[in-house]
Amino acid sequence: MTSFAEPLREVSRDHCVAMDGADKLAHLREQFVLPQGVIYLDGNSLGMLPRATAARVQEVMEKEWGQDLIRSWNNAGWMDLPHRVGDKIARLVGAGAGELVVADSTSVNLFKALSAALSVAQQDSPTRRVILSERSNFPTDLYIAESLARERGLRLVMVDRPEDLVTHLDADVALLMLTHVNYRTGRMHDMAVLTRAAHDVGALALWDLAHSAGAVPVDLKGCDADFAVGCGYKYLNGGPGAPAFVWAHPRHVERFWQPLSGWIGHAAPFEFSPHYAPAPGITRFLCGTPPILSMAALECGVDTVLAAQHLGGMDALREKSLALTDLFAQLVAERCEGQSLTLTSPTAHLLRGSQVCLTHPSGAYAIMQALIARGVIGDFRAPDVLRFGFTPLTVRFVDVWDAVEHLRDVLHSGQWQEPRFAQRAAVT
Ligand SMILES: *Cc1c(COP(=O)(O)O)cnc(C)c1O
Repeated sequence: MTSFAEPLREVSRDHCVAMDGADKLAHLREQFVLPQGVIYLDGNSLGMLPRATAARVQEVMEKEWGQDLIRSWNNAGWMDLPHRVGDKIARLVGAGAGELVVADSTSVNLFKALSAALSVAQQDSPTRRVILSERSNFPTDLYIAESLARERGLRLVMVDRPEDLVTHLDADVALLMLTHVNYRTGRMHDMAVLTRAAHDVGALALWDLAHSAGAVPVDLKGCDADFAVGCGYKYLNGGPGAPAFVWAHPRHVERFWQPLSGWIGHAAPFEFSPHYAPAPGITRFLCGTPPILSMAALECGVDTVLAAQHLGGMDALREKSLALTDLFAQLVAERCEGQSLTLTSPTAHLLRGSQVCLTHPSGAYAIMQALIARGVIGDFRAPDVLRFGFTPLTVRFVDVWDAVEHLRDVLHSGQWQEPRFAQRAAVT
């Protein structure tokens, strides 16, 4: 296996400890509950628990709910929570204040945004019949697009290679629907270039930021994107099943009804009118009553990322993330040589998200199980991918070293071939 870059120097564990000592972001890790004996390389799937979350959720339960009851919709700012947390996330993805709301799940927001985007695209040019995406996109994104395409008599076209996207952009395409950082390979698209290519043929661009928000710098407005959705429980540390977010460019946001026209997205929900009238701006993307307990938890998670703002923000987090992924690839190449691992994440920084994927022809699942048994937690993606996420808020350089030592030991000793590591659980 080759590493990402030519190794500059011989790295030792002491060297990794020194890198942590020099890391100005190192203390941000103290914001989290850090389980003993765990090296957590799965923050891309479920972010760690912030220390502030339990106390905040308890306060919301015991004071705002327990004592103040229904008065809290006004007095504790519950009604405004989708916007307040949305504004915080907006700062991480290059959106303006008041343009992004927290609601529902990523899948549901995708349905709303996709439907809205298709309505806008077809208002402008009714003959366009194609939603263009990638076969390697996250399945829920494809499934949602597939059902909308069926309903509206459109076609979902999936290309096999990212290089083929531009050649498939033509006058039939209504919408380019992409996930910015691929969940499996960690490959990152150039949002500015692809959005421009879509606009050049008269199509719109919708971006899923599930593996981007809080992981890599994103500039939705700067890239002139049209719609975006993203996930609250990955790099935003909002907790299992945390609410997700949705953004529409202000030039589009008044031009459609999103399809889940629930009362919280109504212009005047408490007039209880029998007729729907969408709220101005992004508020119309709300559907039903916001889940306050999980939104309170999500706010604590987003705050852990915003804590880096005065230290260089997403750019500083990105620099550390690239240093971590470079180091991991270099150490795997040096220390696991001859073990049939292949690096499948892109070598170029411009194309890489905050994760590294290795493939192994027969043992990926069992190798990951053996690692997890040692407290090194990454995940497996069928059929042959070992996926390691490097959340720069929580992962240390010494963790990278130790994780690779475990990987080396699992491979060299053949431990991964023990039968207990072959048993499959429901969630991988
Ligand atoms: C994680 C992820 C989702 C998750 O969707 P849910 O509705 O939260 O289950 C969707 N899309 C992408 C690209 C993801 O990475």
